[in-house]
Amino acid sequence: MNIEKEIEKYTEVLKTSEKLPALFVGHGSPMNAIANNTFVDGFQNAANSIQTPQAILCISAHWFTPGTFLTGMQHPKTIHDFGGFPRELYQIEYPAPGNKDLAETTQQLLSPNPSIIDDSEWGLDHGSWSVLRHMYPEATIPVVQLSIDYTKPASYHFELAKQLRPLREKGVLIVGSGNIVHNLRMVDWQNVDKIDHGYEWASEAREIVNKAIISHNYQSLTDYKKLSTSLQLAIPTPDHFLPLLYILAQENKNEPINLFNDHLVGGSLSMTSVQVGE
Ligand code: ZN
Repeated sequence: MNIEKEIEKYTEVLKTSEKLPALFVGHGSPMNAIANNTFVDGFQNAANSIQTPQAILCISAHWFTPGTFLTGMQHPKTIHDFGGFPRELYQIEYPAPGNKDLAETTQQLLSPNPSIIDDSEWGLDHGSWSVLRHMYPEATIPVVQLSIDYTKPASYHFELAKQLRPLREKGVLIVGSGNIVHNLRMVDWQNVDKIDHGYEWASEAREIVNKAIISHNYQSLTDYKKLSTSLQLAIPTPDHFLPLLYILAQENKNEPINLFNDHLVGGSLSMTSVQVGE
């Protein structure tokens, strides 16, 4: 028996069976992609405090589609899906490779839902790259995006997302990117970057959602409109909220939950981010 080989095999197993946490990140303004602020510190700290993933599956608020899709291309393009920002932001590329194996495994886990797209129809939108470029600046870890089917209710997404749990044991970091409080029509544009600046309803919405997260009462969040009128204002459309449900659904019983970047900005936005598991 070659002991060294056996040990190598054994450590291989350990490596692939160590469970990764799941992360919800509040991405906020696309300008955070090139900023140097407390939120960027939060993204970097999160990446530094967990083991390096072998691949990333990202559920971004900005890929909101009729039906469910996965990116299967080898080289997903960097999509600059915003308007009216400085040229510097449009020049950013995040050349992380794709990973067909991860796309196919995810497709099987969510069967019969997602279709894999191989063409240039999508790639990595700013919900993914504006945060990932701070977490993993070398862009060497493969990234696959999973879209959010806008024809389905929140409870459907929460249940669907539970089927992704096995990925955490295969070295995959599941990242949901959105914003919990996200009312663009009510942003105080004069004070858009002001931290801890939130309207009363935004503050109340943040507290209600945080409380539900900390007490692991996720089911209540699938019916968020019923919880309070402040949540109706905070979540006028579900796109930025649903990625949170995808991440909360990754929790196995009694795993620790950590909030970070837990601040309101610009009156009607929050950057609250959540780590599920260690
Ligand atoms: Zn966004």
